[in-house]
Amino acid sequence: MTIQVIPVEGLPLIQKGDDIPALVCERVALENGDILVLASTIYSKAKGHTRRLSEIQPSEYAERIARRDREDPRFVQSVLDEAKEVLIDHPFILSELPFGHIGVRSGVDRSNIEDGYVILLPPDPMGAAAEVRAGVRRRSGKEVGTIITDTCGRAFRRGQTGNAIGWSGFPAIRDFRNDTDLFGHILLITEEAVVDEIAGFANYVMGESHQGIPAVVFRGCERWTGHDDLYFRPSEDVIRKAICNRPG
Ligand code: GDP
Ligand code: MN
Ligand code: MN
Repeated sequence: MTIQVIPVEGLPLIQKGDDIPALVCERVALENGDILVLASTIYSKAKGHTRRLSEIQPSEYAERIARRDREDPRFVQSVLDEAKEVLIDHPFILSELPFGHIGVRSGVDRSNIEDGYVILLPPDPMGAAAEVRAGVRRRSGKEVGTIITDTCGRAFRRGQTGNAIGWSGFPAIRDFRNDTDLFGHILLITEEAVVDEIAGFANYVMGESHQGIPAVVFRGCERWTGHDDLYFRPSEDVIRKAICNRPG
C-alpha cells in the first residue's frame, strides 16, 4: 500500500459562515476513496463554535481554579461550560465532553484565533464529519472519507498527537480479533484505532502554529473493517477509575 499525503495549501483564515468543503474542493482535486482530514479548529470557526472571553461571567469555582493555577477565570469558565464531567481540576482540568471524548481543558483553544476569543470543539464531531463528507460529494461528485481531528495530550508519554474526534465513511477501529498471526495464533484482543493513526500523521503535516494547513488529504489508504466503539465506557476504563477513585 503506497499512501500519498497531500496538504491543502492556501486556505484563508476561516470565518463564521465559510463553506469548508467548497474551499477545499477549490484547492485540491479530490478522488474517490481519498480521506480528507480537517483540524476541528477550522470547522468550529466556520460554524461559530467560538466565544468571546469578555462575555463570560466566571463562577466561584472557576475563580478558585483560576487563582490556584494562574489562569484567566473566564477561560476556565469556558472549559467548565464544555465539560460533561470534570475528572481532575488540578494541575489542569481534564474533562469528558458530552460526545465522549476526554481531553485537557475540554479541548478549548486560545491559539489560532484573535485575542480575546476561544475556540470550542465541535459539539457533534461525528455529525460534522458526515456533513463535510456530504458537502464534498455535492461539490465534487467524489466519495471520500472524512476525519475531524484535535491535537491532544496523552497519558504516559510526553508530546501531543492528533486524535480523531469525528469520522465518516469507515469505522474508527480495525478489528484484528480472531485473525491469525504469522504463527497461526488467534488474536484475542487486538483492535487498532486507525482513525487516530491517520489523525496523528495529519496533525504532523498540519503543525500547531502559523503553518496555515488545517486540511490534509490521504490517498491510497486501503479500507479496513471493524467498529466505531472508540471510547471506553467508564466501567472498562482503568485509567479513569484510577484517577477518579484516588483517595483525597
Ligand atoms: P487544532 O489541532 O484543531 O486545535 O488546530 P491548530 O490550532 O493546531 O491548527 C492546525 C493547523 O491549522 C495549523 O497549521 C494552523 O496554522 C492551521 N489553521 C488554524 N486555523 C486556520 C485558519 O483559519 N486558516 C488556515 N488556513 N489555517 C488555519
Ligand atoms: Mn485544539
Ligand atoms: Mn493542533
